[in-house]
Amino acid sequence: MSDHADNADSKIYQTISAGVAAARSAPALQADFRCHFCEEEVQLELLFCNSDCRDDYERLNQAIRRNGN
Ligand SMILES: [Zn+2]
Repeated sequence: MSDHADNADSKIYQTISAGVAAARSAPALQADFRCHFCEEEVQLELLFCNSDCRDDYERLNQAIRRNGN
């Protein structure tokens, strides 16, 4: 039973690690006080004003990649 929980934890951890790695290797999005999706003003270190914009931006990027650039 504890083995099962450990497996689930490690699976979640792998998913998070993959997400972090993808974010780190993403072609440089520079923080510039603007949301990269809707251009709303944000704090310097933020790329998006909220998680919706981040998700929409990623969805858009994936759609572009699927369409072969
Ligand atoms: Zn935004």
